[in-house]
Amino acid sequence: MLYQPEIELMPRAQMRELQSRRLREQVDYLYKNVPFYKKKLKEAGVDPAAIKSIEDIHKLPFTKKTDLRDNYPFGLVAVPQTDIARIHCSSGTTGKPTVVAYTKGDLDIFSECIARSLTAAGCRPGMVMQNAYGYGLFTGGLGLHYGAERLGMAVVPVSGGMTERQIMLLQDFGTDAICCTPSYALTIAEELARQGIDKSKLKLKYAVLGAEPWTESIRASVEAGLGVTATNIYGLSEVMGPGVSQEDHEEKGTGSYIWEDHFFPEIVDKDTGEPLPEGQTGVLVFTTLTKKAMPVLRYWTNDITSIYYDTTGKRTHVKMGQIIGRADDMLIIRGVNLFHTQVEAVLQNFTELTTNYQLLVKRDGKMDEVEVNVELGTGLYNALGRQPLTTDLINSNDRLSAMYRSLQKKIKDNIGLTMKVHLMAPGEIPRSEGGKTNRIIDTRKKD
Ligand code: ADP
Repeated sequence: MLYQPEIELMPRAQMRELQSRRLREQVDYLYKNVPFYKKKLKEAGVDPAAIKSIEDIHKLPFTKKTDLRDNYPFGLVAVPQTDIARIHCSSGTTGKPTVVAYTKGDLDIFSECIARSLTAAGCRPGMVMQNAYGYGLFTGGLGLHYGAERLGMAVVPVSGGMTERQIMLLQDFGTDAICCTPSYALTIAEELARQGIDKSKLKLKYAVLGAEPWTESIRASVEAGLGVTATNIYGLSEVMGPGVSQEDHEEKGTGSYIWEDHFFPEIVDKDTGEPLPEGQTGVLVFTTLTKKAMPVLRYWTNDITSIYYDTTGKRTHVKMGQIIGRADDMLIIRGVNLFHTQVEAVLQNFTELTTNYQLLVKRDGKMDEVEVNVELGTGLYNALGRQPLTTDLINSNDRLSAMYRSLQKKIKDNIGLTMKVHLMAPGEIPRSEGGKTNRIIDTRKKD
């Protein structure tokens, strides 16, 4: 089922025409209504009249997070204050939060995009949606809330945290679908197992997960732990919020559809800003095509991924791959570029381990070091008599020492760095309570 078949199946030529018209209107609108953009376009020597089609988008300058910060709080707003219907902030995972504003019309499109996304995720009108995204300044809570209502679902606005209560509601309300961060879905799955609840007794069928990077191994753990089909939802507040793109529940692992009638994506080289061809990995850049309160031109998301047209997919819209990291959380360790998801990809080959891990980045003298904390699965931990995981224990147990050696070797072979691994007991690494998980603890002093 598609929520808006006429848009989701739009032939490419027609989509290009729609995008071209909307881009012309958006550029013209910003030139007239936001002094910042007028100045920026003038400085870049771009006359709005030169933007005739979507192919001309590369002529426009980029907008970066610093532009939003420099114009804090409302300098990039294009409408009178009285037309603003809601104000959100980015969650500020990296630095000071940035402010975003919406008109009633913007919120309407926000809900429409979420309703489209939830439909792709498998949700249907009449189902119960447990919304475990944080309510508040973060766009996830209210975004999913109104979008699920728009689709015709019954929304349980529980917000993140209080895991035992989440489980009570899952049981008592006959929740069909849950939305939250992938790390929080894992926390709920663990609590379910801890309480010995039989997941097949739950009605729960779908999990819509986003707001932080995740991998196939996390999907497998969430699906097994909660008995659901889990799909990816992606977005960022500067562009709208969640629901900029969404994975279809019957096309898992092939990427998420970008709702490109509203958000035009590009992939560019992270160093030169030059556009990259379909399929290549670089920085994702978005231009909003229909926003009114705070449109953005070529917004540099800092998220690293690729985009491609899946000719076998249900929809004509372009797909994006998983976010492998943010350009600004890419670690450079002794000259090697490192995203934490690369370590995760190695860990997922070891059935003795869980997907709960953290990277500790340290500076030892002049050398940067990365250490990996990872939890052992309960199976092996119990088989070891739940003893402290000391070096002596590892060395004296054949299975453990073989696994440990193989893990260190695979990290070295696949990533090119030697990392010290600390095996930890199940539950030892702090759990997500609904927010984004911090996978990297960087204790190096910033020079
Ligand atoms: P902040 O930038 O402060 O975290 P946002 O709440 O706007 O604020 O978060 C948007 C960012 O969250 C995205 O740019 C991306 O890095 C990350 N994100 C959102 N959804 C996903 C997803 N499905 N997969 C990976 N990363 C995601």
